[in-house]
Amino acid sequence: MNECPECGRMTLEEDSNGYVCISCGEHFERSEMEKCENCGSMYRKKDQPDVPEMCPRCYENKLNED
Ligand SMILES: [Zn+2]
Ligand SMILES: [Zn+2]
Repeated sequence: MNECPECGRMTLEEDSNGYVCISCGEHFERSEMEKCENCGSMYRKKDQPDVPEMCPRCYENKLNED
């Protein structure tokens, strides 16, 4: 399972329409989600619009490295 961008629990499941979190009940369209190239977790594109293919957490880590 994947990490839910809404509640942060590892309870995000893929369904026929996209992704649904079984903890908080949030639903995400497949088109609004992106898989992080770095760590493989799912995130919302709008949460991290600056660098495609990188989740907010990896982006933050990258910023801290510099
Ligand atoms: Zn959730
Ligand atoms: Zn990542």
